[in-house]
Amino acid sequence: MKTLIANAQVFDGSGAPRRKADVLVDGNRIMRVAAHIERPQDGDVRVIDAAGATLMPGMVDGHTHLGLGSTVEHRSPRTEPEEEQALIISHNARVMLDHGFTSIYSGGNRRPRAEVALRKAIREGWMPGPRLRASSWEVSADTMKSPSATLTPVSAAGHIGANDRAPITDQVRRFVHEMADIGVDVVKMPITGESALIEYTSRVLEFKDEEVAAAGEVARERGVWLTAHAHSPEGIQMAVRHGFRAIYHATYMDDETIAMIANAPQPVFIAPSPGSLWMMGNMGKPPTPGMEVDVAIESLRKVVPKLMKAGIRVVPGSDYGFGFNPIGLNATDLALFVDWFGMTPAEALRCATETGGHLMGMGDELGLVREGYLADLLLVEGDPTRDITILQDASRLSMIMKDGQLHKLAFNRRAACAAELAT
Ligand SMILES: [Zn+2]
Repeated sequence: MKTLIANAQVFDGSGAPRRKADVLVDGNRIMRVAAHIERPQDGDVRVIDAAGATLMPGMVDGHTHLGLGSTVEHRSPRTEPEEEQALIISHNARVMLDHGFTSIYSGGNRRPRAEVALRKAIREGWMPGPRLRASSWEVSADTMKSPSATLTPVSAAGHIGANDRAPITDQVRRFVHEMADIGVDVVKMPITGESALIEYTSRVLEFKDEEVAAAGEVARERGVWLTAHAHSPEGIQMAVRHGFRAIYHATYMDDETIAMIANAPQPVFIAPSPGSLWMMGNMGKPPTPGMEVDVAIESLRKVVPKLMKAGIRVVPGSDYGFGFNPIGLNATDLALFVDWFGMTPAEALRCATETGGHLMGMGDELGLVREGYLADLLLVEGDPTRDITILQDASRLSMIMKDGQLHKLAFNRRAACAAELAT
C-alpha cells in the first residue's frame, strides 16, 4: 500500500521552516519528498489532500510513566491489582498515540515486566501504541534490596538518604541484571530524591557513587541503557560519569556539570520536565513550600537556555501519568519550552522530533520527514511553527500515521481522499 500526502506544508523536524511538498509513503517508509509527486499508477494508492495543514514527524516523549495510570480520559487511583494495571498501561499507550506521540522513551513503570509485554503487543500489531523503549520499574534503594517485592511508597518520616546507610552495591548490580534478563531497554534509577513526593529531598542523594558505578558497569555489559532521576549537580554528575543516557529534571544543574555533559563520551539527553512543575502550580491544590516548585521553576528557567547554548540535547516529557499531569497533556511541555526557555516553536518541535529520534537510538531513520525514514507522520490543522499550543488539541491532528499505518484520518481529509479515489 502506498500513501500520497499531497499539498502539505512540511515541517521536516530539523528546525528548518515549513515548505510546500508532496510526500509518498510506501509500506512503512517515506519513499519520496518533492515539490510535486505524480500519483503512482501501480498498485494500491491512498491519496490524502493535506492542503492548508502541516505535515510533521510523529512526536517522541522522553519522560512519561505509562504505568502510573492517569490519562485525560481516565483517572487511576494507583492502587489497582495487577490485572487492572495491565489494562491501564495499554490504554495509556493508545492515548499517547491519539495525541501525536508515536514514540516513547519510557520513564519507568510500576511492575518489572509491564512495558516489555506492552512493547511486544504493540510490535506484533494487535495493540495500538507508540514505538516503545521499555523501562524497568522504578524503585527506591529500599525496594532494590528485594526486587521481587511489591513497590512500596517511601514516606517522609523514615526517609534515609544514601549517605546515611550501608552500601547496596551488590543489590544494585543484581537489579540491573534482573531487568536485563526481563528484556527492558532502559533501567531507571532515582539518583536523587524528589521534593514533590517527600518535602525538601530533591537534592538528597539516594544512591552512592559506587552503586551508580556498578549500575553503569552492568548496563554496559548487558547492553541496556540507563536513565536517572536527578535534580542536583552531584547526582547528575554521577549519572554522566557512569554512562547514563538520559537525565530527568536536572533542575539545579551548574556550569561545571553542563561542561561535563557537553564533553561526555556517550550521548546524554536531558528531559528538564517543566510540565509537571507547571501543573503542580496550576492544577489542583497549591503546592507546599517543601515541594520547592517555585524554586525549581526559577532554576530550570536559567538552566535550560544554557543547555541549548552548549548544544546539549533536550527532549520533552514531564512525568506524565500522575493525576495532576495526566497522559494526553504531554504537548504542554513544548509550549513551556517556548515560554520558559526561550526556544522558537521550531526549536521546540525539533526537540520532540529529530532529537527524539536520536533519544530512541534511531536517529538515522526516525524523527524527520526525509526519504528513507520511517513513516511516523502527523497532519496538523494549522501551523505549529507559529502557534505551538495547537499541538495540545488532539482534534487538530487530522492524521496520525505510525510505521506507515494510519491510526487516525479525520473526516475532512478522508473526504478529500474519497473524492480523489472516485476520479
Ligand atoms: Zn519521572
